Amino acid sequence: MEDRYNPAEIEPKWQARWREQQLYQTREDPSRPKFYCLEMFPYPSGDVHVGHVRNYSIGDALARYHRMLGYNVLYPMGFDAFGQPSEAAAIKRQAHPAQWTYECMDRMRAQFDRLGNSYDWDREVRTCDPEYYRWNQWFFLKFLERGLAYRANAPVNWCPTCEFVLSDEEAQGGKCWRCDGPVTKQLREQWWFRITDYADRLLDDLEQLTEWPERVRVMQANWIGRSEGVEFDLEVVGREEKIRVFTTRIDTLFGVTYVVLAPEHPLVDALVTDPTVSQAVASYRAQVATRTNVERISEAAKDGVDLGVRAVGPATGEPVPVWIADYVLLEYGTGAIMAVPAHDQRDFEFAHAHDLPIRVVIQPPDRPLDAATMAEAYVDPGTQVNSAQFDGLANEEGKVNIAEWLEGRGVGRRVTNYRLHDWLVSRQRYWGTPIPVVYCDRCGMVPVPEAELPVVLPTDIPFTGTAAMLAEAEAFVKTSCPKCDGPARRETDTMAQWIESCWYFLRYTDPRNDQTPFRRELADAWMPVDQYIGGIEHAILHLLYSRFFTKVLYDLGLVGVQEPFRRLFTQGMLQMEGQTMSKSKGTRVGPDEVIPRYGADALRTYILFLAPADQEADWKQGGIEGISRFLNRVWRAVVGRREHFDPDWRRAHARAQSPAAVVLRRKVHQTVRRVTNDIERFHFNTAISALMEMLNVMTECDEAALAAELAPAYSEACEHLALLLAPFAPHLAEELWSQLGKQGSVHLSSWPAWDEAVAAEEQITVVVQVNGKVRDRLSVAPGMPQNELQARALAAPKVQPYLSGRSVRQVVVVPDRLVSIVVS
Ligand SMILES: [Zn+2]
Ligand SMILES: [Zn+2]
Repeated sequence: MEDRYNPAEIEPKWQARWREQQLYQTREDPSRPKFYCLEMFPYPSGDVHVGHVRNYSIGDALARYHRMLGYNVLYPMGFDAFGQPSEAAAIKRQAHPAQWTYECMDRMRAQFDRLGNSYDWDREVRTCDPEYYRWNQWFFLKFLERGLAYRANAPVNWCPTCEFVLSDEEAQGGKCWRCDGPVTKQLREQWWFRITDYADRLLDDLEQLTEWPERVRVMQANWIGRSEGVEFDLEVVGREEKIRVFTTRIDTLFGVTYVVLAPEHPLVDALVTDPTVSQAVASYRAQVATRTNVERISEAAKDGVDLGVRAVGPATGEPVPVWIADYVLLEYGTGAIMAVPAHDQRDFEFAHAHDLPIRVVIQPPDRPLDAATMAEAYVDPGTQVNSAQFDGLANEEGKVNIAEWLEGRGVGRRVTNYRLHDWLVSRQRYWGTPIPVVYCDRCGMVPVPEAELPVVLPTDIPFTGTAAMLAEAEAFVKTSCPKCDGPARRETDTMAQWIESCWYFLRYTDPRNDQTPFRRELADAWMPVDQYIGGIEHAILHLLYSRFFTKVLYDLGLVGVQEPFRRLFTQGMLQMEGQTMSKSKGTRVGPDEVIPRYGADALRTYILFLAPADQEADWKQGGIEGISRFLNRVWRAVVGRREHFDPDWRRAHARAQSPAAVVLRRKVHQTVRRVTNDIERFHFNTAISALMEMLNVMTECDEAALAAELAPAYSEACEHLALLLAPFAPHLAEELWSQLGKQGSVHLSSWPAWDEAVAAEEQITVVVQVNGKVRDRLSVAPGMPQNELQARALAAPKVQPYLSGRSVRQVVVVPDRLVSIVVS
């Protein structure tokens, strides 16, 4: 028998045995509570690196822990195989995306197996398989029927570096999600999903997601950006055109002193007739094009161009100048604002920079405001002034009354505005799900009938990597019209890959179904996902899209839940020696480099030990050595002393125990309590340090005592150590279990319970004397350090009266027994 820990031998052995025994295959079992554990599935980029391993080690630890608690666990894995990341990787390697992607998936699956993750591979989903993406097409047709998918010509985000269009969510802050480069706007005919129809539900239902990080919920709420306000038109002096504005502060209507349009506003060109102004507008626009939206709304320096025209508001009848400025975004509201510098900080700064008038219309309760001396805008509640018949009202009342007044005159209306826009879902790229419609000269756009799905992406065409590649594949494009049988052309746009990840978690519940995307009863039995794990970078992309999709499927009667993910955990980033992991900089390690040297168990345990799982962690070269030594010590403490193992230790506990046994058992039960509570809180790092502390106590046990009175307690410790290690170091735990002669797999055993009475810390009594007289008795844990005992004694309420007004001259501490205080 091996007398040393050899992960290179035991890890492949157990992986093969688990596979043979189908240990992690999930079966329907309504008699047990279910636990659906899921990590965001990866792009088949080619390699798993240790950054990914963090995500998967968290998920695997939780899946194993819940299995041991008796849950029926669904823990599947698959690949987000279509889309830009895979296509870009293939282009870089001058490979065909189909070939490249399938090779990568096989390689990554083998890497997952080497990590020992307990996935149910029978449920694997690969989104580029026609058996999967035919259902994307099927959903698309359902969306089309319900008017939730439509084609329209509209300004879209365009990344000149990547040469593709981006949804708003992919272009957050004006930056491309793929290359971080600046995004421009183009007018293009594209496909959209009407996510705005679901804006209210997406926002309101965030309240149900109490087990999501607050940060993610706030990000989604801000992104949806619902605001209640009033929309009205401003006349332009001497012109036909009207400027429509939206405001959430209609109470400040009488304080408008100028109007601002976004530089890109389509009305600007119509309003400007003066060639000098035209020129200024053009050069200002060029300047603005280099700024991101975030810069535009956050920068203090305000520039803009006076268009030389005047607008008249519905309140004062007084003409005010019209400007363009980049702090107004075309995407928000109507792309135009009424500026009230007295009561909006950005307007205030702009007015100061351009010498525009400031008019106070809300007075604070405590001090009179003077426009000439204001240092900043007043944005808090107050009383209406300079507001004609509304003077004297509280501004919250003013809001309602002025809105009603405008509505009554037919010049404005109350509206709810959203920052969220419809979701741009078409891509002019090859590697994606073909959109299932054809264009017929006679019938126009015709959906492909359900029976003809899937529209298969041709993989036998030469891969050029160009945007028009699919459009050039004549055999694909040429087809006949499903309605009139006349010649027709297929849609050559493909779907954004975010669509595939909108429902993969439903497919896992019924992965081989070829009649429907999934059976409702299976989906309802497993959904929602109980624990979802992934990166915060998906807060407004995947996590918003899949919530929307689930709600649509709910409305279609396909699934019984409206929210897909009950609990969400976002793991922190893993860095390497303080730097972002990057292959080119050499600051990235893969499991293939670590496992041959230390084993998968050491890798997984090290990553979880590094830092709290939700925080950034720093991988240190050589840091894994410590964990490797720990696992070696575990081996020696259990396998090295297994001749003392007493399988009947429970019975032996009924007899009187030696003091050493009491101490060891206390530590074991305290450790069970700590590890359990720590896993529940995602504090895997402290759970692992608790195991290290327990091992220290085990190692210190006297060898002679082990053979005698300590044997039962030590046997209990060995068994519990294997059980508690199982979520983190599954191979080693399984090997220890088998070395101890236990039947069955440790991973199907019950998670240990602790006995509070055994775990309770022993208390001893320490006497406190003042000038030789006993004044108090302290109940403390044995071995309390001297300085701590001294502090406790001096602070004791019964001791205090004897110290007041005197000075302490001397304190003598006899550990575990006495504190003697001498006062003058
Ligand atoms: Zn880009
Ligand atoms: Zn036709």
